[in-house]
Amino acid sequence: MIDLRSDTVTRPTPEMLDAMFSAKVGDDVFGDDPTVKELESKTATMFGMEAALFTPSGTMANQIGINVHVQPGDEVICDETSHIYNFEGGGIAFNSGASVRLIKGDRGRITSEQVLGCINPDNEHYARTKLVSIENTANKGGGSCYVIKEVNKISKLCKETQLGFHLDGARLFNALTETGDSPKEYGALFDSISICLSKGLGAPVGSVLMGDTAFIHKARRIRKKFGGGMRQAGYLAAAGIYALDHNIARLGQDHERAKEIGRVLKSCSFVEKLMPIETNIIIFRLNVKFTDKQFLQMLEEKGIAAVGFGPQTIRFVTHLDFTESMLEEVVGVLNKM
Ligand SMILES: *Cc1c(COP(=O)(O)O)cnc(C)c1O
Repeated sequence: MIDLRSDTVTRPTPEMLDAMFSAKVGDDVFGDDPTVKELESKTATMFGMEAALFTPSGTMANQIGINVHVQPGDEVICDETSHIYNFEGGGIAFNSGASVRLIKGDRGRITSEQVLGCINPDNEHYARTKLVSIENTANKGGGSCYVIKEVNKISKLCKETQLGFHLDGARLFNALTETGDSPKEYGALFDSISICLSKGLGAPVGSVLMGDTAFIHKARRIRKKFGGGMRQAGYLAAAGIYALDHNIARLGQDHERAKEIGRVLKSCSFVEKLMPIETNIIIFRLNVKFTDKQFLQMLEEKGIAAVGFGPQTIRFVTHLDFTESMLEEVVGVLNKM
């Protein structure tokens, strides 16, 4: 099976498994797992941030971050397609009792002008605006990347208006690969950043939340409350360290393969609209030739798995386990449909 459902489907390589097997571990809830500590200090240093916290998932990293930033009744500003709003089970309301102000962005990206227009005045009628969260790359935006100049403007605005600024960086390394910006440039602009090790970087499990020392101190308590305190988690952290050391430099390959699929889709008679492809996500809308169900079924019969992403809309994601020969196979299948 060629699996294009997500970049979360990758399996650890023998080299990554070796790193996991030989990890030194302790009890991370007691604070003495050396490998978890190493992963946390490695990511914090990489981004020039003070501290970091290993979490079981990207959702938990984001939800802990939001929970540290807001009180019940506060409001979070984000794009209407954002993962924190659409794909985290209503977690902002459930975990933090906060409301959400949604912005209609450009393929998942919002501007400082739009943020400014959504900050509530200090008036008892309104929820207290407390946090701005952006996503880079933007998943539902088709893997679109921010221009750092705009991020800088939003960051400045947040500082001036005393709002927290959070980055859902589940695929931040895909964005950095494409734009050439550095982790440290991003670290300087946010109060908190989450990154996923289990997406394009190929680790089986894990995310990291970063912030200043006081922020991560609070985050550690919230992680415990959310049930995310893990014991000999060094085995998992070792996979994350391996992923950071070995799998960032190759992300460009995933982007090239995604763009190649895009070139093929452009000439396919069943495609109505293809979103621009900037990184490893391909989103396209089907015309009346096939329904989304029919299309996914036909792909499955050819040994290709993908997911529906809204009405008549399909998403493919390229990743570490999607090889050149699989690309050729997919191109062949699409050309014949
Ligand atoms: C995958 C993803 C997450 C986190 O997802 P988990 O499955 O909980 O690790 C967060 N944000 C975005 C944009 C994502 O794509």
